[in-house]
Amino acid sequence: MKNIYLDNASTTALRPEVIQEMTKVLAEDYGNPSSTHSLGRKSKSVLELSRKSIAQNLNATAQEIIFTSCGTEANNWILRSAVKDLQVTRIITSRMEHHAVLYTALVLQKEFDIKIDYVNVKASGEIDITHLVELLSHDEKTLVSLMHVNNETGTILDLERVGIICKEHAALFHSDTVQSIGKIEIDLQITAVDFIVASAHKFHGPKGVGFTFIRKNSGIQPLFFGGEQEKGLRAGTEALHQIAGMAKALELSYTNLETEKSHILDLREYLLSKLEIEFPDYKVNGDVDGFYTILNVLLPFPEDKTAMILFHLDMKGIAVSRGSACQSGSIKPSHVLLEMLSDQDLKKPSLRISFSHFNKLQDIDALIEALKTI
Ligand code: PLP
Repeated sequence: MKNIYLDNASTTALRPEVIQEMTKVLAEDYGNPSSTHSLGRKSKSVLELSRKSIAQNLNATAQEIIFTSCGTEANNWILRSAVKDLQVTRIITSRMEHHAVLYTALVLQKEFDIKIDYVNVKASGEIDITHLVELLSHDEKTLVSLMHVNNETGTILDLERVGIICKEHAALFHSDTVQSIGKIEIDLQITAVDFIVASAHKFHGPKGVGFTFIRKNSGIQPLFFGGEQEKGLRAGTEALHQIAGMAKALELSYTNLETEKSHILDLREYLLSKLEIEFPDYKVNGDVDGFYTILNVLLPFPEDKTAMILFHLDMKGIAVSRGSACQSGSIKPSHVLLEMLSDQDLKKPSLRISFSHFNKLQDIDALIEALKTI
């Protein structure tokens, strides 16, 4: 049976060039980048070239890119250090964030007695900017943490606008850009964001590696302590093959951005037209003009189909998601949809269909055919 993978917001398949690059580094560059001998120096050069390439793709400086093990680590790190080391006493976030932000904020609230303000969310899933400005008018050392693209609904935040608002109110601005990095241009000289985070496995790189952008002179301190790697900010021997693979994946994502985006937009349009024909009462959860790689739809099926729909699709070799990646398979409603849907709609099946450039029109046909048999 052919696998049809429409769950690219959970994770993505590696590009062949990335596998090639990683295999080469694994085989040849096994020296420790901290060693002073030639093998070590060669590894150090792979490490720094990777950093430079990532920085260039985002118009940042190389020193502002720090490698981590994943997006979750990076989110935990920035939020914690902002409270512990930058005297932040309040976090403004939303209830739509990934748990790597939501749960971290809650732990910090308990540990440091900080305040959390949740900015209102509109029915479309968008952040209510007027409410954000209102919250920011209270004078308090604040970190705003709002994600760029919602991993469940694809709702987009205007990063540049929120950056300006945060700057005007002297608030620090952190954005979880895990879903958007590699899929949309981000110019860090123009966007007034202090911290962003990325995870390689979301843009056709390897799992277990990510990075964070920390704007120069931010004062962020390490999450854990040990060696002098990453200028002492992130101790631990660098996973060189992962980092080189991530840099290659990001480079290819940006090189191919326009063609791959246009292919994905065609697929998305095609899916929407098919849904319109076959299931005219379907609804898009969130904004129909949301991020191009993610489409969250509510299907007009009876409630008793909700629990088995993913299983049914899986039996036909089709991978999609219900709610966020970490909860796929769970039948608890997603915390994001919980904020947006009525009790009635929450009981119905919602599917998150997420695309990559590897998908084809036939994948959409197969999904629609499978849904027709439910
Ligand atoms: N933030 C968002 C928006 C995500 O979608 C994910 C992954 O599902 C994460 C953070 C966590 O990233 P990682 O898997 O690298 O820990």
